[in-house]
Amino acid sequence: MKIHAEMETLLRQGLANHVIARRLHTSPAKVQAARVALGLPNLALGPKGAASLEDLFSARTEPVAGGHLRWTGTVTRDGANKLRWRGGNYSAHAVAFRIRTGRDPVGRARTSCEMPRCVAPAHVSDQTERIRDNAIFNALIGGLQ
Ligand SMILES: [Zn+2]
Repeated sequence: MKIHAEMETLLRQGLANHVIARRLHTSPAKVQAARVALGLPNLALGPKGAASLEDLFSARTEPVAGGHLRWTGTVTRDGANKLRWRGGNYSAHAVAFRIRTGRDPVGRARTSCEMPRCVAPAHVSDQTERIRDNAIFNALIGGLQ
C-alpha cells in the first residue's frame, strides 16, 4: 500500500484519523488503512473513554529505556505535548508534574532530563523546582571553591 508522505507524518505525530482526514481532504477509513499498513497502534481511549486525566496521560505515553517516557499523543504545531480531556486542554508536562507532586506547576512544567520532550513524572520540573535546584547547584559549586 502506497502511503501519502504527509499522512504518514501526521499519523506518526499521533493525530486522530478524523483530524488527518479533514486536513488532507480524505476519508477516516483511508487514514485507518494507512495506520494499519504502517503498523501504528490505534489511538488510546479518547476524552470520553478515559476515567481520569491521569489515565488518559498514561494511555498516551510509552516507556523508553532509562526511565524516560515518550509522548505518543498530540503534538501541537509549536511542539508542545497536549491532551484534551472533558473539554479542557492540558499540557502533558503539567499533568506529569501533577502526577508526581500532587500540585499544579508554577510557571511552565518542562523536561529536566536529557531526552527531548520526555514526560516521565520524575523527569519534569516546574519553575519553583528549577530555581531551587539551581540554588542548590550553585551552593555546592560555591562550596567546592
Ligand atoms: Zn526522561
